This record gives sequence, C-alpha cells and structure tokens, in this order.
Amino acid sequence: MLENYTDVDVFVENLKSRFEAKLNYTYIRNILISINPFEDLGTFTSDLIDEYSNKSLFELPPHLYAIANQAYYTMKEETTDQCVLISGESGAGKTEASKQILQFLVAKSTDTGKAVMIRDRLLQSNPILEAFGNAKTTRNDNSSRFGKYLECQFDFLGEVVNGRMMTYLLEKSRVTTQLTGERNFHIFYMLLLSGDDALCRDLGLEANKLDYRYISQGGVGMVEELDDHSEFLTVMSAFQQCGIEEQERLALFRACAGILQLGEVDFQQQGDMAAVSNTDVLQMVAAAFSVDLVGLTHALTSRTVEARGESLVKHLSKDEAETTRDGLSKSIYKRMFAWLVERLNASFGQEYTEGRSTTMGLLDIYGFEVLQSNGFEQLCINYANERLQQLFVNLTLKAEQEEYEREGVAWVGVEYFDNKIICDLIEDAKSGIFAALDDTCLGPGEQGDDVFLKALDARFGQNKNALYSSWADNKKLQRDSFVLKHYAGDVAYDVAGFVSKNNDLLFRDLVRVMLDSKDTVMAKWFDESELDSKKRPPTASTQFRRSIKELMETLMVKQPSYVRCIKPNQQKHAGVWDQELVTHQVKYLGLMEVLRVARAGYCYRRPFEAFYQRYKSVCKATWPSYPGPLSEAAKLIADTLKVDESEVAVGKTKIFIKQPKTLLALENSLVLA
Ligand code: ADP
Ligand code: MG
Repeated sequence: MLENYTDVDVFVENLKSRFEAKLNYTYIRNILISINPFEDLGTFTSDLIDEYSNKSLFELPPHLYAIANQAYYTMKEETTDQCVLISGESGAGKTEASKQILQFLVAKSTDTGKAVMIRDRLLQSNPILEAFGNAKTTRNDNSSRFGKYLECQFDFLGEVVNGRMMTYLLEKSRVTTQLTGERNFHIFYMLLLSGDDALCRDLGLEANKLDYRYISQGGVGMVEELDDHSEFLTVMSAFQQCGIEEQERLALFRACAGILQLGEVDFQQQGDMAAVSNTDVLQMVAAAFSVDLVGLTHALTSRTVEARGESLVKHLSKDEAETTRDGLSKSIYKRMFAWLVERLNASFGQEYTEGRSTTMGLLDIYGFEVLQSNGFEQLCINYANERLQQLFVNLTLKAEQEEYEREGVAWVGVEYFDNKIICDLIEDAKSGIFAALDDTCLGPGEQGDDVFLKALDARFGQNKNALYSSWADNKKLQRDSFVLKHYAGDVAYDVAGFVSKNNDLLFRDLVRVMLDSKDTVMAKWFDESELDSKKRPPTASTQFRRSIKELMETLMVKQPSYVRCIKPNQQKHAGVWDQELVTHQVKYLGLMEVLRVARAGYCYRRPFEAFYQRYKSVCKATWPSYPGPLSEAAKLIADTLKVDESEVAVGKTKIFIKQPKTLLALENSLVLA
C-alpha cells in the first residue's frame, strides 16, 4: 500500500476545522466528502435546490446538490448516462445523501402529467423499503440492511419518466437473531404498535406485545428515536401511493405475523426425533401462511432425502428442527423483500427500456467493513467494495488520461494499488475463493467449513498468493480464519458459517408446503423449479458475484460522480470529532489514493477563451486585449505568477493548472491588479 501518514493527518485536520465551522462538505477535486453532522445544518431546503441549480461545480460552496446538479445537467446537455456512487460506513449518511439527491432530481421535473406519479412513487418507495429493510443497530437507528441501486430514467426534456431499483444482500440473519442493543426489521414493531387492534387480531398477533422471541433478542423494543406508530401510517399511505393493493399488503403482513409466530414454535426431543411442543402456535403459523398444518409440521421435523433414486424420510433432531424453523423464517422474509422490490419496480411506469432516454443511477451500498468478527457477508461486502474501487480507479484515471492525451499534455502516470489481483483472488471463476467455496458446497457429502479452509490453504497458502495467508502459514493468526490483503487493509475472515451461508438451501419439503399456500401472493415467492432435486439453485456467492458483475457493467458505461460519507463519532452526537475514527475511515474509503491521483493531475482546466477573459487584467501583455492566439495569452498570464513550469500546462484547447494554491494566487492577483 502506498501511504504517507503525515498526509493523512494534515488532511484529517483540514476536515476537522471545516467540521468545527459547521462545513460538513468538502471536495477533493470533484469528489464530495460528506461528514454526518448528526444535526440539522439547514442544508436541505428547496431554496438551496434552486440556488445550486444551473451552477458550475465550484461556483458555490461544496454541497450534495452541486454534485446532483452537475450530474443532472451533464446528463441533459451531453445526453450521457450518469451515476452517483455513495459509499461509507454504516451511519455515515449514505442513505440520507441518496434521498437528498433524489429530492434534487425530482425537483427538476415539472408538476404536471405522468412525471408527478412516477416522482411520487419513487419517493414513496423509500419508506416502504425502509420499513422492511432497515433496522436499529448500535451504529445507526435507521440502518439500511441491504445495498441499493436506484436508477431514474429521464426523457430528453429532463423529466423523470421511469425508475428501477436493484437491492443487494439483505441481512436476513436479523429476522431470527439480533445483537444486544439492536432490533429486528422495523416492520415487525410497526405492525405490533400500529394501533390497529383489529388488524393485529386478524393476523393472530397480540397488539403491543414486543417480547416475541424473534424481535426481543437485542433487548430493545420501543426506542425514542423511532416512532413506529406514525411510521406505520406513513408506510400505509406509501402503499396506497405506490398502488400496492389490499391483498398484497395483507400478504406482507401475514408473512410477518407468521414469522413472528414461527419464532414462538418450540420443539422437544422424542426418541430420535423432534416434535412440536406447542401445536396451537404452529396452527397460527399455518393460518398466517395459509398452508396445511400437517404438511408444515412434517416439513419442520423431517426431511426427504434422495439417495440413488430413492426417497427416504429422515427425522430431524431438536436442534435441526430449530435450524429448519429459523431457515424458513429467513427464507420467507428474503423472498418477500425481493418480491416487494419487484412489485415497486412494476409500479413505477411502463417497461423499463434501456437506451431510449438518459438515466441517472444512485448507488447506496455499505462501505468496506471490518468488524470484530468477519464472516461470509463481510467478504461479499468487501468484495463489492474492491470492485467499486477498481471501477473508480479505472474511470478516474482513464478519463483523466484521455483528456491529457487529447490535449497533448504531458502526464505522469500515478502509481496506485491495482486491485485487479485481489478481485481475481476472490472472484476467479475457476480458482478464486468463491469458486473454492462452491466446490466445497457442491462436492460429495456434506462438507464443513474446515474443508473449505483446507481447500483455500492448498490453493493460495504458502505464498502461492501474496494477498492470502492463514494459520497454516502464520501461527500468529487465528486458527479458523484466513486473512486477505484488501486495498483498504488486511481483513481476517472467520470461516465459520461460510458453507451453510453459501448453500442457502431451503429444504424442498418446505418449498412444497409454501407452494401450496392458498395465499396467491405468498405462493408466488416460491418456484416449482425448486422442487427438482437434480437442479441446484446457484449458490449465494455465485448469485452475488453475478449481480455485482451486472452492476459494474451498468456503472461502467456511465459517467460517475462520487460522494464519500464519513461518520465523525460512534455516539451519533452533533459536534463531536473522533480523530482516530475519522482517520480510519479516510484510509478505508481510499481517500488518500484519491488525493494522490488528484495531485498528480491538474485541479483546474479551462478553455483558453474563458481563462483569458477572467484573468487578462493580471498581465500587462494581455490587457486590455491580446492580438495573438489565445493559447499564447493564456501562457503569458500564467507566466506572471512565476510558478514552476510543471504547475501549468497548455493543451490544444485548454489551459491546465496543477494546484489549487496556484489558482488562488491568480485569483488574488486579480484583486491586486
Ligand atoms: P447510512 O445510510 O450511511 O448508514 P444514514 O443516511 O441512515 O446512514 O444516516 C444515519 C443518521 O444520521 C440519519 O438517520 C440521520 O439522523 C443522520 N444524518 C445523516 N446525514 C445527515 C445530514 N446530512 N444532516 C443531518 N443528519 C444526518
Ligand atoms: Mg443506509
């Protein structure tokens, strides 16, 4: 890694003094760094939207609206697709930023016709998705537990005409377990606190009861920061606006109610098999899912296995039955969420047509993650961030390089960490880490996480791959883990759970039960093809790899803008600055690389005419007019600053200036002149 610590310190100091002056936005070149103020700084008003509209990026103080405005107008004027990529840790303000950008974009549409409907649905899809996909965590009271890519389609007038969204890696483990101080997804609490006792009764739920097993493990129910009751009303009205019908709403609520009840189902060991000990509860589950009680009971306590063309029924132990129960809950929730996203997509407009108009993509995805213990999910997230970093490096450097070449300006290639090798190590279809995991999952018999780790060691250990190490190579490391050298730093992954999470299988017996659900909406969440024992659905890592590949292809053909979000402290307090925490994020967000890239290039580029008009008064030879070519005039103006040769470059149509301070000097001499 190429890093210079003093640089980091200076940079962070700079951010700090701006933060203390309540300036939470800063640019590095055209990348916006946004520090979460955890207080209303009055930065989001419709007046400001107007003010920032139609201005060039550096004309006004740094702001999200300036980034949105630049992307929007470039899209319109140059008919190019754009995207805004937002990254940062949990609680850093990504989702807030993406909402504000969306606000800016839809404010550009007129208040008439179809655009209004689409605009409202785009905005209203947010509370719905947040109800089902957000949860209180220790880091963020309203934390999105999924990644989201939203694309808005605009016609040639710049009116929004359609939308489409994709979601990534919903954290379904939260459906059945929560860490201390955390909650399950908001919707469960909203339903119970809805104040709609009739609804709760119909769903078989006890209103206001917050000690269901699935929602009480974190030890927090109601929290001051969240008004579940009023949020429920917001979601109901959003459903209405998005055209989600009564029957569909009920299916969603029934699924949630059924899951809550399922969590209450207990098993007891009877001989070598598990039996349900509270059938009355399971009966309520069956009612909520509209499925057959006997079939459900069987599917939870036994499993049909196929061996050599024969079907055998295998009884499950108490532990296995509990795992199966939780597996069903997670699976239903995940499918419900996926269906909801598709349903909202369908509500936006006509068929989404690629290439007919221009699009603006907004990516709000978890940043690089290093937790106390890192598992399969962290590997996926960090892999996605590697790909995004790769995209960033390619697009930024490539775009710059192309302009310098076009202009005939000498360009010194900047050294950067090419993370292709780490991407390959993880994703290579034949020999990558995900491939090794798939081999373990699809191999004969039921192989464990230890087999997976052995396979990794055999492939990459003993310095076969410089970015990989494990206990087998280095006894200082944890035994059941492997360490990868990511662009942002080393991360140790604990292999526990990798195999089962990648398998992500729902027993066919349960699929069969759910397929027969009398609830026609719910039945749609399952597919006949899942019953085919010869066909194995793609593993979780394969699915994720595919979706990230698709995302990269989508982003690759767009012009990117970047927003990097930073959290100033862990306590979510206004005005508190944790130097160490910020420094850590600056490094993990790859901001030092950004700085180096920015410094190696030129911060300012302007066509000769524009430059000449602004600065001709600072130089005797060019004032009041210059008879020769403007490129010469521009050079003469720059010469009056007596700066180093390398500070200024004269291209074919533009003049380039390397550092902001040189530009500032020019500006100052304007005042003196
Ligand atoms: P992330 O999506 O990165 O996890 P969020 O966007 O949900 O983070 O922000 C976390 C919380 O921080 C929000 O719920 C809000 O209270 C606060 N917040 C974020 N951005 C801002 C902002 N620009 N101004 C004021 N508060 C903010
Ligand atoms: Mg978020």
